[in-house]
Amino acid sequence: MQTVIHWFRRDLRVSDNTALSEAMKRAETVVPVFIFEDAFRTGPDVGAARLEFLLQSVESLRKNLAELGHRLIIRCGKSENILPQLCRETGAQAVFANKRYEPYAQRRDERIIGILLKAGFGIELFKDAVIWEEAEILTQQEKSYTVFTPYSKAWKAKPITLPRAKIGSRNSESEIADLPSDELPKSPDEVGFPLTQNIPPGGERAALELLRRFLAGPVYDYGGNRNFPALDGTSNLSPHLRAGTIGIRTILAALKKARASATPAQQPGCDVFLNELIWREFYLQVLHNFPHVMKGAFRPEYNALKWSDNQEHFTAWCEGRTGYPIVDAAMRCLNSTGTMHNRLRMIVAMFLTKDLLLHWQWGERYFMKQLVDGDLAANNGGWQWSAGTGTDAAPYFRIFNPVSQGEKFDAEGKFVRRWIPELKEYPDDLIHQPWENPLLLSKSKYPPRIVLHEEQRVKCLAMFKAVK
Ligand SMILES: Cc1cc2nc3c(=O)[nH]c(=O)nc-3n(C[C@H](O)[C@H](O)[C@H](O)COP(=O)(O)OP(=O)(O)OC[C@H]3O[C@@H](n4cnc5c(N)ncnc54)[C@H](O)[C@@H]3O)c2cc1C
Repeated sequence: MQTVIHWFRRDLRVSDNTALSEAMKRAETVVPVFIFEDAFRTGPDVGAARLEFLLQSVESLRKNLAELGHRLIIRCGKSENILPQLCRETGAQAVFANKRYEPYAQRRDERIIGILLKAGFGIELFKDAVIWEEAEILTQQEKSYTVFTPYSKAWKAKPITLPRAKIGSRNSESEIADLPSDELPKSPDEVGFPLTQNIPPGGERAALELLRRFLAGPVYDYGGNRNFPALDGTSNLSPHLRAGTIGIRTILAALKKARASATPAQQPGCDVFLNELIWREFYLQVLHNFPHVMKGAFRPEYNALKWSDNQEHFTAWCEGRTGYPIVDAAMRCLNSTGTMHNRLRMIVAMFLTKDLLLHWQWGERYFMKQLVDGDLAANNGGWQWSAGTGTDAAPYFRIFNPVSQGEKFDAEGKFVRRWIPELKEYPDDLIHQPWENPLLLSKSKYPPRIVLHEEQRVKCLAMFKAVK
């Protein structure tokens, strides 16, 4: 082919990028394009943290491409209008892109395929964001998996694809030097989303550095450390996996190497990390095969649950003022950084649904607005798991006690004290139940509990039993 457009979406990188590598191999001129979609300004789930991460990652991509002699073309608007227009402007024969798996993105892609084909241009979509797509791991009866363990076994039984090499340098800048390119917004503020969080840096280099650091040591203790929010025991790669600033094959190849040089005692850490990466693909295939989860419970009988509609409780949860320190510390961390540790996500999600008895979709929506890694499939899966309404979910009668969760996973209260300065003076043994010293509590300015866990637990069990 003479000219191909590579359309960057959730693959903002120059290495291990399947569609981009194919475009480079098969076309004489490749036009790298990023479209700042109208939906980035108007979508219901848009959040400042994710938008800032995206803008940083596109800027980093622009620089990485320029170093290799490629010019990134930016256009703002709707991809279905922009892509055929760009094909005409550049004389491209086809558009290459990596596949998206969310139902709304696939519907959009189907529309675009129709538009491009009708206009006489080609389009090719490549598997890239996952190792195994929704139809590649099926049960013996050719059905989709709804339970993680057998899914992960089937996943691991197949050979893993190797990463693609970084693209080579080529002076395509000059060939498209006159092609107009729009400016990206300088910040989320410019499009109406003021950034109040201090988020981790975006871009491919930041992602590769995180991976290098994690695999140089922490991965070996991951099995033990991953549940303790005060430790930096996890990879922090989720925003990068979401934006595609790192390729999944790159992570798996590096993990394999790290495991090969590990002692027998260190290998389980690598295996647990692999399992977590498989959870990501598990929830993507759940979303694809059971798209009704976007609108309601995976198990439809749970759509009849009679949730509370207490707005004050919801606001207290969002703002980290429930009176339960581990819940409040987690929410304040989310509001300040756009990130939250997995153990804490489970704790706050259980608290919202099983202590406050509020609909899991309220929490799901709030997370999507705040999280820098907010991802429809993983977020929906995590919320439905915690609420007990999902695939392979925690059973409804499994209810975390926020005090014992805090005592178990933040025993010395290090995480709580980092985010709740009002509790700095509390001794370790009371840090997760400050109400046990009413005098100190009244001096501390930390709020009293908005509900009593033991009472709410009984109400929650009754609420679920009513629909069983
Ligand atoms: C209520 C709730 C909401 C969640 N929302 C999201 C979300 O919007 N986006 C998101 O990426 N993850 C979400 N998760 C999963 C998990 O909490 C994060 O992936 C993890 O905390 C990210 O930190 P890390 O990169 O250091 O993870 P690590 O522990 O280093 O794990 C490595 C990678 O594996 C994947 N992963 C790990 N755990 C899970 C999981 N349970 N489900 C799916 N993928 C997983 C992620 O891509 C992660 O980056 C949610 C979990 C819950 C309980």
